[in-house]
Amino acid sequence: MHELSITKNIVAIVNERAKGRKVVRVQLEIGKLSAIVPESIRFCFDVCAKDTCLSGAKLEITEIWPIGRCHSCHQDFSLDLVNAQCPCGSRQFECITGQEMKIKEMEVE
Ligand SMILES: [Zn+2]
Repeated sequence: MHELSITKNIVAIVNERAKGRKVVRVQLEIGKLSAIVPESIRFCFDVCAKDTCLSGAKLEITEIWPIGRCHSCHQDFSLDLVNAQCPCGSRQFECITGQEMKIKEMEVE
């Protein structure tokens, strides 16, 4: 379960930034294409946060829907995960969002 090590990393980063202050809220952004399961992060969070500045912190997870940028018509479009193609019909595109996992915000007391 790679979510456990990911969660440990998140907690370590936030804990360091908090510099001993109590963290009340952490907001994460997780892309739909990142292969990270938000529920698993939630599940691991309380365990990893124990005995750190994040103990008892509220975890908020925003899932980011993938956006593709078409190489043919240069439009950005919302990616259909089953049949990924631009509305113009092109399958030549790059994903500009949807693969990220980042700490969007943290709130300290
Ligand atoms: Zn297109």
